[in-house]
Amino acid sequence: MESRIERIKKQLHGASYKLTPQREATVMVLLENEEDHLSAEDVFLLVKERAPEIGLATVYRTLELLTELKIVDKINFGDGVARYDLRQEGATRFHHHLICIECGSVDEIQEDLLGEVEKIVETRFQFTVKDHWLTFHGICKRCKQKENKKK
Ligand SMILES: [Zn+2]
Ligand SMILES: [Zn+2]
Repeated sequence: MESRIERIKKQLHGASYKLTPQREATVMVLLENEEDHLSAEDVFLLVKERAPEIGLATVYRTLELLTELKIVDKINFGDGVARYDLRQEGATRFHHHLICIECGSVDEIQEDLLGEVEKIVETRFQFTVKDHWLTFHGICKRCKQKENKKK
């Protein structure tokens, strides 16, 4: 089985881009931190550990390119910071997020819960849905467990 990095390489080639060492270092950081939602600065600091000569501008450009190719999604959780999130392979829709207002954690829901909603939007509004973002704000199970222990 070819690795994820190989497939990303092919995607870049398909769009006439090369997987330069700097781009590869950036993609590796995203793959290794797949659960996280890193800002460009976070990515930059981690990439620098692998490729000390890399500049922030290069990391930005790479992230923009990966966003254009839909390898990553650029998201904003309302704090004004753009974060980069790897898209699940083969996913036509972006995954959902659960943001805890107590501890700030971000969990992901990989299954798509919006199929029915999309159908309604398409029929009632004659709108062709290409993608959606869904973010829930609330209290995570870990915080609730902590709360319960205190009682
Ligand atoms: Zn995510
Ligand atoms: Zn929490």
